[in-house]
Amino acid sequence: RPALAVEGLGLAIGGASILSEVGFAVARGEMLGVIGPNGAGKTTLFNVLSGLARPTAGRVLLDGRDVTGLPVHRRAKAGLGRTFQTSSLFGALTVLENVRLAAQARLGGSLSVLAFPRTHDAATRRARERLAEVGLADKEGLRAQDLSHGDKRKVEIAMMLATDPSVVLLDEPMAGVGSGDVGALTEVIRGLHRDRGTTVLMVEHHMDVVLGLVDRVAVMHHGRLLAIGTPDAVMADDTVQAAYLGEPV
Ligand code: ADP
Ligand code: MG
Ligand code: MG
Repeated sequence: RPALAVEGLGLAIGGASILSEVGFAVARGEMLGVIGPNGAGKTTLFNVLSGLARPTAGRVLLDGRDVTGLPVHRRAKAGLGRTFQTSSLFGALTVLENVRLAAQARLGGSLSVLAFPRTHDAATRRARERLAEVGLADKEGLRAQDLSHGDKRKVEIAMMLATDPSVVLLDEPMAGVGSGDVGALTEVIRGLHRDRGTTVLMVEHHMDVVLGLVDRVAVMHHGRLLAIGTPDAVMADDTVQAAYLGEPV
């Protein structure tokens, strides 16, 4: 049984077809890169997978279970984690406070920044564990807004990990990250895949990062799945090369 499968996904908005007949399956522990020109539908696909957008056709299966009708929080409980293309941090809160909020959401109880004086509760312990996993233990007291782009991305990954996901969606984790931080962030992603056996889907424009990390690549183009396969096979595909040259395929 695949960790994640989609069948015949379609999404039309106001007569425009944003996704059409998208189908693929991701094995447990697999890392799938999702690439394609800007506007191809990659983020929309993640929105459908995570429950932010409702497809107009098709199904989403998480570990064999049809989750197509489930809202975002129920999918998160079912093991789906996500990071976003743009930052979702509370800039004025500290690194630890941000991750603690995510841990608290997972552990239950009311979300409250006012509860922060309780610094040794379960949520705080979990937040510190996840920060250690992404190599940010020494920055827990810094305000999120004062971090480098690369470190902000690591905090977002720690927040996502605080929900103990079995399948994670990373939308352009390297966006805005300085070249000096790309290597470190790549290792964080490699580690969460290797050490936790997490199933990972990653949209990313840095081709060298994608091709160095993933088991397979899916290529989106005009809302369709143009190709899926090993990096070598996909990059050698004529229709994929044509898509990147902007030619009709
Ligand atoms: P990508 O992430 O591959 O760059 P997106 O999924 O963000 O692409 O967008 C795919 C297409 O869907 C684009 O043409 C975009 O303008 C359109 N789109 C995305 N969301 C909406 C929406 N809520 N309403 C209308 N069009 C949208
Ligand atoms: Mg885009
Ligand atoms: Mg996008």
